[in-house]
Amino acid sequence: MAYLERTQPKCPRCAYRLRGIPGARCPECGLVLTVEKLVQHRLRSPLLIWAGFGFIVSALLLSATCVLLPIGFLYLGFFIWWGTAPAAVAEMTPRMRKLAIVFAWAPAVFLLLGLAIHMYVLPYF
Ligand SMILES: [Zn+2]
Repeated sequence: MAYLERTQPKCPRCAYRLRGIPGARCPECGLVLTVEKLVQHRLRSPLLIWAGFGFIVSALLLSATCVLLPIGFLYLGFFIWWGTAPAAVAEMTPRMRKLAIVFAWAPAVFLLLGLAIHMYVLPYF
């Protein structure tokens, strides 16, 4: 149950905050809790899925620029790691998840913004 202290999860069924509860059972709805259940629940969080999606979008866009191909491969690596290291990903604090999603999408947003400026603001360059 040390897992509960580290990750501050909520009950998968009733969203009760489980931090500091005495046993492996939700005091609110009685659901029997296992670490596997909580990890699975956390991995379905939209924030984590969007971050993973951001890694692959960034990887593809970076690779398409040729110059930034190595960074594209790096992001492809992040994407694969994100998909294959669910335990590490699930144990991230909410703050780290937010950082991850920003980190995942930053190159994609930057490149699309650059492309938009190139196409619409400076059409003759
Ligand atoms: Zn519950």
